[in-house]
Amino acid sequence: MRSSLVLLASVLVLPLEGMAAYPERPITFIVPFAAGGPTDVVARIVAENMSKTLGQQLVVENVAGAGGTTGALRCAQATPDGYTIMMGHMGTHGAAPAVYADLKYDPVKDFVPIGMAAGTPILIVAKKSFPAKDLKEFVSYVKANSEKLNEAHAGVGSVSFTTCAFFNSLIGAKPTRVVYRGTGPALNDIVAGQVDYMCDQIVNLVPQIQANSIKAYAVATAQRSPVLPDVPTTKEGGLAEFQVSAWNAIFAPKGTPPEVTKKLSAALQKALADAGTRKRLLDLGADLTDKEAQTPEGLAKLVQSEVARWNKVLKTVAMKEPAPPPK
Ligand code: ASP
Repeated sequence: MRSSLVLLASVLVLPLEGMAAYPERPITFIVPFAAGGPTDVVARIVAENMSKTLGQQLVVENVAGAGGTTGALRCAQATPDGYTIMMGHMGTHGAAPAVYADLKYDPVKDFVPIGMAAGTPILIVAKKSFPAKDLKEFVSYVKANSEKLNEAHAGVGSVSFTTCAFFNSLIGAKPTRVVYRGTGPALNDIVAGQVDYMCDQIVNLVPQIQANSIKAYAVATAQRSPVLPDVPTTKEGGLAEFQVSAWNAIFAPKGTPPEVTKKLSAALQKALADAGTRKRLLDLGADLTDKEAQTPEGLAKLVQSEVARWNKVLKTVAMKEPAPPPK
């Protein structure tokens, strides 16, 4: 009896001991969009600090395609041992179920939430030569000429796709929607004047707006961004109905042991409390005010409410237009 108890105790203790050493090797950190875009930028900033805390590198792997759902599925199907995690966002873990009838993962059931990294207000931006001086002129021009205009997005279900689908439907515009593997490459084409406009997350845009290489017509939040004090809100610009903000958050596959997710979550929260990491994110316009969402419990709630919200919003929006094939 006694020896069997001892045996039982050692069996119970073993897995915990194994995990105490986590992480023992680098962690693959899936970014479901092209390098250089908003999700990639936020991921790399937090990964740098988290790697120091964890004593192992978080190695970013860009797995782009299908509006971020290819990378999210890769993460959902990975071995849940803490060595594959991802940076998801409002698209992959909020809007995607509303636009893909056959989505192969469930943002709620197939992941363990680790925590939100950054809120990312949405801006309406256009190429520098776009012939409109403010949001009112922009809206009338787009309405009148939308068939001739190209709008860039990062694939069906991405933040840029869903938020601009909402924008286009609000103003009754039907531009040609050009798909990219992320808004990093899309932004390059806006700077080069090859596409006309897009709706994108602030962290991708601030340097180009400050350098005057693109035009920013409005930020879709209640307040102006402290890093872009000259850019009016959509409300100030006469389009108060277009209020939308995105977010980027870390997830692990379902079944990842709690000891592991706790370590990851603590490392993320430590990164978000670090002055240097905060400054880098804040300088790009990220919103770090939602402390509750930085916890696994808060993120779980956010994902549930976002799936419901986007399901409602996107039902009212013409989402059915065929997207052109990826470049
Ligand atoms: N977040 C995506 C990217 O990093 C873009 C998007 O969702 O619109 O490119």
